[in-house]
Amino acid sequence: MPRFICNACGTQFPESTEPPTACPICEDERQYVPAGGQSWTEMAALGCDHEIGWTEEADRLFSLKMRPAFAIAQRAFLILHPDGNILWDCVSLIDAATVRRIEGLGGLAHIAISHPHYYSCMAEWSAAFGGVPVHIHEDDAKWVQRDDAAVKFWSGERLPLGAATMIRCGGHFAGASVLSCPWLSGGRGALFSGDTIQVVPDRHHVSFMYSYPNLIPLAAAEITRIVDAVRPFAFDAIYGAFEGRTIARDGKAAVERSAERYLRAIGR
Ligand SMILES: [Zn+2]
Ligand SMILES: [Zn+2]
Repeated sequence: MPRFICNACGTQFPESTEPPTACPICEDERQYVPAGGQSWTEMAALGCDHEIGWTEEADRLFSLKMRPAFAIAQRAFLILHPDGNILWDCVSLIDAATVRRIEGLGGLAHIAISHPHYYSCMAEWSAAFGGVPVHIHEDDAKWVQRDDAAVKFWSGERLPLGAATMIRCGGHFAGASVLSCPWLSGGRGALFSGDTIQVVPDRHHVSFMYSYPNLIPLAAAEITRIVDAVRPFAFDAIYGAFEGRTIARDGKAAVERSAERYLRAIGR
């Protein structure tokens, strides 16, 4: 029985003979239903005309992205560490070549997901690597469409994953999380920020929105909470959700000055 995938947001649904009647993630005000209506595909179909493109972002760090672009053009990261590799965020395709290449680099120990716009085909990815855990903050549990034994809901503000730490920031989603990897960037640290700390096109600032497509900002208290959550962590680089959205240096200062700019703009 097929497991349909939403063409607009890339989320995979549980087995069903007919496509779902709606996609709750697209119907939420943080996404949208396309003008032509909701449409659906399957993994096998995506595998015929898409591939996973690899980009070496830094030493022992790769971004993975479907080519041509699919859904919201998500990018995932393969973060290598001797204690166990981490996949940060996910995409809607997994194929044999990708599995082989990752196995050759030591496999996966964890899949860590920032927020519902990156749930994509996380259960398929987990299954391809022997059911590795998929870590999602419990505050976003209701957005999981295809629940799976591999999905592990975590609670609280931080989750250690070996040398890395998931940090709940909230903001864009209640459980929206980022990942701190202090060994990257030559030991100065890197932050994988998902959508809740969004790297903007100038690659020297970030922004913070409740809804990006519908341009709904966040309140001052939420901005402060996000910045406070990451302030204890050292990071030089920030890897944002989308291709090219990377702050190479001084990421920590970029977050602080971007938050000040944002608060000024909303009159605080
Ligand atoms: Zn959708
Ligand atoms: Zn998002």
